[in-house]
Amino acid sequence: MYTAVALDGPAGAGKSSIAKRAAKELDFIYVDTGALYRTVGYAATLEGIEPVDSPEVDSLLTRIAVDLTFNDRGEQIVLLNGEDVSSFIRTPEASMTASKISAIPKVRAFLLDLQRNMAKTHNVIMDGRDIGTVVLPDAQVKIFLTASPEARAGRRYKELIEKGMNVNYKDILKDVIARDYNDSHRETAPLKPAEGCVTVDTTELDFEQSVAKIISVIKEKL
Ligand code: C5P
Repeated sequence: MYTAVALDGPAGAGKSSIAKRAAKELDFIYVDTGALYRTVGYAATLEGIEPVDSPEVDSLLTRIAVDLTFNDRGEQIVLLNGEDVSSFIRTPEASMTASKISAIPKVRAFLLDLQRNMAKTHNVIMDGRDIGTVVLPDAQVKIFLTASPEARAGRRYKELIEKGMNVNYKDILKDVIARDYNDSHRETAPLKPAEGCVTVDTTELDFEQSVAKIISVIKEKL
């Protein structure tokens, strides 16, 4: 029997960096499900297909294979047709395409088994939008991690600037607000706190405090 921690919340709440660190300390595998939606979005972009519910997207899903693997440092690698696309899916454009394509029910269904199988075969901290509500409703621990839109945009801005990308804060804040809206208003698996989840707000917490808080919530529940 494996343990699953479902970690949901809006874009930029710090889920991935916090979950990565917590997973390391607990010796769990960290699964970033956003990377899967980004990869489907990237596949659509490569073929010039709009990220909307359409026969073109249906057909794309029959032609692509998306899979997850881990390198020897335990970092997740996402594969599109067997090729590592991890470094192509992190641009602001890829974020917006992922947000749009993830609203399509067939895309969500396409990625469901892959996510569930990870939790059947490993102790996981799985981060996403619908992990506690749809993917792993029986997860032993469910956390909803959030922060104000301004705090989240500020962190994303810093992250992208540090990667050498040419971005501006106002655009990122607009993106964050638009993605929040898309993610929480879609019909299929909208972003919302799962029943029985613990909500953690990191607006006023720094990274170390956030990690400590998440680990203490997990340990308390297990
Ligand atoms: O987490 P990340 O920002 O990488 O996710 C990219 C997009 O993928 C999100 O804006 C969201 O629309 C979508 N997503 C989702 N369900 C998940 C994970 C991500 O709909 N479980």
